[in-house]
Amino acid sequence: MNPSQPRLINHLMPVTERPAEVFVRGEGAWLWDAAGTRYLDWLQGWAVNALGHCPPLITQALQAQSTKLLTPSPAVYNLPSLELAARLCELSGFAQVFFGSTGAEANEGAIKLARKWGRVQRAGAHEIITFDNGFHGRNLATMAASGKAGWDRLFPPQMPGFAKARLNDLDSVLSAINEHTVAIMLEPVQGEAGVRPATPAFLQALRQLCDERGLLLIFDEVQTGCGRLGHLFAFQKYGVTPDIMTLGKGLGGGVPISAVLAQAHCSVFEYGDQGGTYAGNPLMCAVSLAVLNVLSQPTFLAQVRAMGQLLRDGLEDLSAREGLGEVRGDGLLLALELGTDMAPAIVHECRAQGLLVNAARPHCLRFMPRLNSTADEIHEGLDRLGAVLRQTQKRAVFAA
Ligand SMILES: *Cc1c(COP(=O)(O)O)cnc(C)c1O
Repeated sequence: MNPSQPRLINHLMPVTERPAEVFVRGEGAWLWDAAGTRYLDWLQGWAVNALGHCPPLITQALQAQSTKLLTPSPAVYNLPSLELAARLCELSGFAQVFFGSTGAEANEGAIKLARKWGRVQRAGAHEIITFDNGFHGRNLATMAASGKAGWDRLFPPQMPGFAKARLNDLDSVLSAINEHTVAIMLEPVQGEAGVRPATPAFLQALRQLCDERGLLLIFDEVQTGCGRLGHLFAFQKYGVTPDIMTLGKGLGGGVPISAVLAQAHCSVFEYGDQGGTYAGNPLMCAVSLAVLNVLSQPTFLAQVRAMGQLLRDGLEDLSAREGLGEVRGDGLLLALELGTDMAPAIVHECRAQGLLVNAARPHCLRFMPRLNSTADEIHEGLDRLGAVLRQTQKRAVFAA
């Protein structure tokens, strides 16, 4: 079987452009295609594989739990979900958890929770202020919450109830508030927008505003949580505590699990309000427990910060040498601004050179290596990227 035969490809809905290679195996920082070519993977499933591809502890957790209990029903208790919820609350200071499978599902749960709270506590207030260029997922509610250009016209009618403000612009938030406003929801660092961090001052001002006006502050930490920024949760790094937080991606280290966490005062779901066939299934919860156990070690998080600094320093050197733009982000969620729309071409060339990176925007590259990256891997990736950038700049000069 040749998996790249057009005939086979034709049976998958063409929802995104994909390279011709078919990927068959991953181990740690590396990914192999069907032809046997090896790639250093700085996508890691879009910041999902926190511990790299196929870490043995996930295989072990899957094997052990799969011999005991897969999915008993979301309407009965199971041990891994009880343990994971307790552990997450202990590590974050939140009171209660609802589990889902995807980031979009968690964010939709957070939106429902805020609307429910508004109904019972705030006389029916329901509008949520979200941000231009924000990304919260691809179901109808989270598409409306997202601020991606053009998304409001993709599947009309768009779900109402989301007012848009601009990141790091408090006045734009203030002018979006009205008597129907119930919450402000944002990513502490906008990931899909090209790694654009909220400033600490902005987050603190939002916290104060929410306290003064009786609004909920919701952090979408699907990308920034679970150690990605070198702290277990971004809110701990910023010292600004939200009322509701969502997690996904790295929470499962490669398997689908997500979570909505709420403080006691706004954990208002009652029987019948929320559910899901796979909500808190023991198979995924057992994996997440094993992953979280590693991610939450202080020495592990210190190592993420050290590797993040190494990558940042290397990117800044490359940028200075090739005359490119700023490096943004924190920990192992970093972006390099290129100045021109050459990111897709660079991504293509990097893949040909055995390095997988993402063009978050046409003019910017995003890097999401595994959190347990070694210094050798960081240097290897920087070398490959440097060679590609050098070639591209040479060609650009030649063409000009
Ligand atoms: C990836 C992402 C989501 C969506 O997660 P899915 O698992 O794809 O539904 C939501 N919010 C943020 C910040 C993300 O990065």
